[in-house]
Amino acid sequence: MAEETIFSKIIRREIPADILYQDELVTAFRDITPQAPTHILIIPNHLIPTANDIKASDEKALGRMMSVAAKLAQEEGIAEDGYRLIMNCNQHGGQEVFHIHMHLVGGHQLGRMLSPPA
Ligand code: 5GP
Repeated sequence: MAEETIFSKIIRREIPADILYQDELVTAFRDITPQAPTHILIIPNHLIPTANDIKASDEKALGRMMSVAAKLAQEEGIAEDGYRLIMNCNQHGGQEVFHIHMHLVGGHQLGRMLSPPA
């Protein structure tokens, strides 16, 4: 049984977050440590720890995450200039919160996609 993270508490509104969108499948909120002028996290409401755990039965929520990303990019005014959607997985991917989340980042020119390991 996967362990809940702080994101489950955000979904249930037990701890504060700047929630921009929520429906029966997904929740989107601003990242607490933004890496760009727009930095939003889009997550499924049910716990999927990592990208490795995604099943066919999750496809509806995963698809919704994509369409909500597109909608929020429009609302943030960054759609035309462009942005990046990122999902980190496990240690090599730099994942820190084990409830999958798509980062929507943009609002200025982003750097190269991959930087060398620190
Ligand atoms: P990861 O490295 O797992 O892909 O990204 C986790 C993201 O979650 C980080 O960008 C981090 O700033 C964000 N984050 C971690 N804890 C919280 C929190 O309590 N609230 C919000 N809004 N974002 C968080």
